[in-house]
Amino acid sequence: MEKQTLSFQAEVKQILHLVTHSLYSNKEIFLRELVSNASDACDKLRFEALNNAGLYEDAPNLDVRVSFDKAAKTITIRDNGIGLSAEEAVANLGTIARSGTREFMAKLEGDQKKDAQLIGQFGVGFYSGFIVADRITVESRRAGAKAEEGVRWSSDGSGDFEVETITKPTRGTDVILHLREGEEEFLSGWKLRSIISKYSDHISLPVLMQKEEWDPEKSEQIVKDEWAPINKAAALWTRSKSDITPEQYEEFYKQISYDTEAPLAYTHNRVEGRSEYTQLLYIPAKAPFDLWNRDKRGGVKLYVKRVFIMDDAEALMPVYLRFVKGVIDSADLPLNVSRELLQESRDVKAIREGSTKRVLSMLEGLANSEDEAERAKYAKFWKDFGSVLKEGVGEDHANQERLVKLFRFASTHADEGVSLADYVGRMKEGQEAIYYVTADTLAAAKNSPQLEIFRKKGIEVLLLTDRVDEWMLSHVYEFEGKPLQSVAKGAIDLGKLQDEAEKKQAEEAATAFKPVLDRLKEVLKDRAKDVRVTTRLVDSPACLVVEEGDISGHLARMLKQAGQSAPAQQPTLEVNAEHALVKRLDGSAHFDDLAHILFDQAVLAEGGHLEDPAAYVRRVNALLTA
Ligand code: ADP
Repeated sequence: MEKQTLSFQAEVKQILHLVTHSLYSNKEIFLRELVSNASDACDKLRFEALNNAGLYEDAPNLDVRVSFDKAAKTITIRDNGIGLSAEEAVANLGTIARSGTREFMAKLEGDQKKDAQLIGQFGVGFYSGFIVADRITVESRRAGAKAEEGVRWSSDGSGDFEVETITKPTRGTDVILHLREGEEEFLSGWKLRSIISKYSDHISLPVLMQKEEWDPEKSEQIVKDEWAPINKAAALWTRSKSDITPEQYEEFYKQISYDTEAPLAYTHNRVEGRSEYTQLLYIPAKAPFDLWNRDKRGGVKLYVKRVFIMDDAEALMPVYLRFVKGVIDSADLPLNVSRELLQESRDVKAIREGSTKRVLSMLEGLANSEDEAERAKYAKFWKDFGSVLKEGVGEDHANQERLVKLFRFASTHADEGVSLADYVGRMKEGQEAIYYVTADTLAAAKNSPQLEIFRKKGIEVLLLTDRVDEWMLSHVYEFEGKPLQSVAKGAIDLGKLQDEAEKKQAEEAATAFKPVLDRLKEVLKDRAKDVRVTTRLVDSPACLVVEEGDISGHLARMLKQAGQSAPAQQPTLEVNAEHALVKRLDGSAHFDDLAHILFDQAVLAEGGHLEDPAAYVRRVNALLTA
């Protein structure tokens, strides 16, 4: 192939611009990224060579070599991994094919600080070289290809790159960074060694640099021809816990997650038994930008006997734990395992179950900790990930009970952090159910007319305002034997919480009120399934309730907003016979208008939309001017 000049994909240009303009506060990460790519390339070779040992050619020892040239002002990162063909160089170094790229681009706001954080999460990879280099040359040859089938790729990182065919006898990739003016500090063995030790100690293959010797005559370090490893070259998770510092655990997390913040918690275990594996799992401190993408694969990498098999092995974690990052290294799975095989494997099932339990234990440890700081961490976790964790009640029946204990809600008692156990602990003498109301916002929930009697009696009600709550309630019916009961469903029965006198009074009111009720039913027959007197209201004249088993008004509205059809059902109107407005009905000349107004107001009070707002306005005005 003759030398060709090609243009970067638009997204790459945008990334490159960001990289060079916003990442200079932490320049040294370029080395971490490039060493990591080199190590991945060796992992890929090892994996492909499982079926084709010839790919090793005559160099079976995989390693990464970092060197520098003071005179030429270059740093070279060399690996003898899988290498790139010319086509792969064009595709992989000129475009970004990663899933979530579009989403990521859409989030960029042009605010350098925020974007820099975001790009950290996305992972800049190869392009981070341009933080310190004003030209990068890549020379590569794919394992198994002929020496004449090498490729040289070169770019100054602005808009174009060049590719041409070269002869390269050795397999693998050299990434040559031509340093920018002012970046000479990186032309030092000491500096490069310290960066590699800091970020790349856990890399599982040797990262080598040339030895140096002090020359007293020239008064400088002389680079020798002898290469020596800088890292321990043992994958972090294979080392014993006692040999790993918290900083090393953190650094490893940052590397695999692209997160700039330390993780909230982690767990590292060697599991023996029916299935043998090592797990190192992390819970991030904040939600990633693509948390809501349920199609996104998991964040757990699969290794088999230390050989890297695949990223994002979704079969290893349930979908509702898709935020967990980490590594699982199995001793039992075959090395040539595919995604399809993973889905069916019994070993994988055992790993998933074991890992799920570990993650739940980590969360329980935080949530139930004696230490206030740990509990605060859980509160933070819940804010970011609570809605995702709730998905678990549908997906993971086996752990439903444990999950529900981890849930936190708002209630009439506290605006956040209420667990069902807290609630049960505060239940009144004689209270049999856990009461809740669902609404779009906390304010709407708090002001629901249906809550009035509960307030008056000092009974706590959960205020559920998360979009997934209605869905969650279709899977969770009870907690510790106490049914979950909507305050807006069915005829209210406070059971033992209501005394005999109150019950009697309500019955009498209902009888005395019957003629008015009958007329209300007649006037509202096209809108309400039934009209009845209620004791659930204190200050409001009326409210709507649905029958037990019907979907709530809140869910019906959500379905409608989502463009789905809600089942046709009419609510029941409940009226407060003690309210002045309701008392006015009897003998009123405006009975019909008042009846409709009561109904419309009940709709408005629960956050609903009137089907005919103009009619409502007309009726209210008619009364105001009467
Ligand atoms: P990522 O590593 O997250 O995929 P990068 O931008 O770092 O993204 O790299 C893009 C692609 O370029 C990689 O996926 C890989 O295919 C290829 N690549 C980068 N460095 C090397 C290397 N040293 N050897 C072989 N391929 C490489």
